[in-house]
Amino acid sequence: MNAEKDCIFCKIVAGEIPAHKVYEDEKTYAFLDRTPINQGHTLVIPKKHAADVFEIEESEWQAVMKTARVVAHALEKALGAEGVNVDTNNRAAAGQVVFHSHVHVIPRFSGDGFEHWKGHPYAPGEAETIRMKVLSALS
Ligand code: 5GP
Ligand code: ZN
Repeated sequence: MNAEKDCIFCKIVAGEIPAHKVYEDEKTYAFLDRTPINQGHTLVIPKKHAADVFEIEESEWQAVMKTARVVAHALEKALGAEGVNVDTNNRAAAGQVVFHSHVHVIPRFSGDGFEHWKGHPYAPGEAETIRMKVLSALS
């Protein structure tokens, strides 16, 4: 399969599939998610195809995050969003469904019922073990 040729979000950037565009610049494109968690839920994508945060070039990722910030301000101003979630799912294990890198910018309102995921505390000593593993990957 040709990832770009068959990619829904590449087709949206190319104008081959309709979308409710809210913002576009040289590197990025932002449009309303078709099944919003709250109205105004926006997806920000790089115009250049990359599957996920592991594959995308750093400069492309920076451009996407810059646009996510622009969109967050617009959602506050336009819709009265009291907060936003800026979220990105990467690979199937993390819930990614469309394999063209994207960031969700979700307007939030007090009491809108969208619950935060539940965390589990570390057992004694576990956090340090994990920290050492991450540090060794970074060195
Ligand atoms: P994820 O891959 O992060 O789980 O989410 C993909 C998101 O893309 C979903 O929220 C879904 O509603 C949205 N989506 C999938 N296909 C289309 C489409 O063709 N148009 C629009 N506007 N959104 C889409
Ligand atoms: Zn694509």
